[in-house]
Amino acid sequence: MTATLIDGKAFAARVRDEVAKGVAALKRDHGITPGLAVVLVGEDPASQVYVRNKGKQTIEAGMASFEHKLADTTPEADLLALVEKLNGDPAVHGILVQLPLPDHVDESKVLAAIDPAKDVDGFHVLNVGLLGTGQKAMVPCTPLGCLMMLRDHLGSLSGKNAVVVGRSNIVGKPMAQLLLGDSCTVTIAHSRTQDLAEVCRRADILVAAVGRPQMIPGDWVKPGATVIDVGINRIPAPEKGEGKTRLVGDVDFDSAREVAGAITPVPGGVGPMTIACLLANTLTACCRANGLAEPEGLTA
Ligand code: NDP
Repeated sequence: MTATLIDGKAFAARVRDEVAKGVAALKRDHGITPGLAVVLVGEDPASQVYVRNKGKQTIEAGMASFEHKLADTTPEADLLALVEKLNGDPAVHGILVQLPLPDHVDESKVLAAIDPAKDVDGFHVLNVGLLGTGQKAMVPCTPLGCLMMLRDHLGSLSGKNAVVVGRSNIVGKPMAQLLLGDSCTVTIAHSRTQDLAEVCRRADILVAAVGRPQMIPGDWVKPGATVIDVGINRIPAPEKGEGKTRLVGDVDFDSAREVAGAITPVPGGVGPMTIACLLANTLTACCRANGLAEPEGLTA
């Protein structure tokens, strides 16, 4: 059997269209334009690319984009003051501080300073607590994107055995909470898990968020399972020429696709969903801030 490919690129385009429709309706019916502020500290090239893409897609969705680029020597107090200013700005409905921050800045202090209602990354402890207690939260974008793809592909997730490999605060743990919220029986595996292969083989839904290239082979996958590969790893690709590299996931795609029922590729799977969900979260935050109905299908 060859697995169905879950096309994250196409799905993300659909999500962005839905967001754009929601934004257009807000403007037309209420005269409100959702706004996303992105704060970048320093010159990290990967972060610069992310921020540029976020700004571009925000504008394409019809939202206002506010970019704040600060020198990597910016004192923590100045960054906190900017966050405070954005918290009080009624044109800003979502605030994202691009991580990582320079060493002299206390990351947790900055994240804690963001108004939880504008915390479109879902990293504030209040949102973590709301998600953990099954209440309305701002949900981290990557696991939200995975949940949307799973619901789209499988319909109801209720009663399914889900295994999440990885327990980070930004992917593994919120992913597990979301699956629990959809009534899966959830196992969270990590570097100390014993007999990981056997644990993975029980999964109807297998989510890999580890950061180790191709570590999950096809024979760890239950026949017919739905596999979501969050990993983004760069490995040497001598077949493309000397010094060339390519992206692979945490799952060994070639062997897993022979066993799984459906699988996300890398690239083109989970990756494109992350920014789409950031836009969805900004629209949601804007609706909540204005006491309006939330967009359907774009929240957890
Ligand atoms: P972290 O490094 O924060 O967490 C990795 C997790 O994997 C940890 O919980 C760790 O366990 C676990 N782990 C490490 N080695 C093993 C092992 N041999 N067996 C089982 N578990 C193991 O990573 P992130 O969650 O931030 O990211 C995971 C991957 O997802 C990365 O490749 C990252 O690039 C990608 N990513 C992709 C995004 C996207 O948009 N598609 C967004 C965010 C991340 P322990 O806790 O015990 O150390």
